[in-house]
Amino acid sequence: MRKQQRQLITRLLRATETMVQGGLSETSRRCGNSGCICYRDPKHLHGPHLYITYREDGKSRSLYVPPEHAENARQAQRAWAEFWEIGCALSKLNREGLQKQWQQEKQARKPRAAGSTPHD
Ligand SMILES: [Zn+2]
Repeated sequence: MRKQQRQLITRLLRATETMVQGGLSETSRRCGNSGCICYRDPKHLHGPHLYITYREDGKSRSLYVPPEHAENARQAQRAWAEFWEIGCALSKLNREGLQKQWQQEKQARKPRAAGSTPHD
């Protein structure tokens, strides 16, 4: 295995420790109390509240993030983004590896002298 590949895998594993799939969304909303100011004045909505949004079993879901854990949630999402980026980088290396391997095999099959070669 190449050094570049090993380094990527090390980073990939680190990302898996904290990654959480999904996006982050901040929404402001009314509460359930019809006597609250949020019902009369849209400037006084509650929030913004942070949610981790994701899909599960084909449904959109969200997980409320308590304010004191916002940085935690942002880190988890960054780890997920990094996991993807590293996965794509590893995939690129593998693709290049395949291409090289196929070219080498093609070279090896080539006859030294020009002659009649049967088609594959
Ligand atoms: Zn309210």
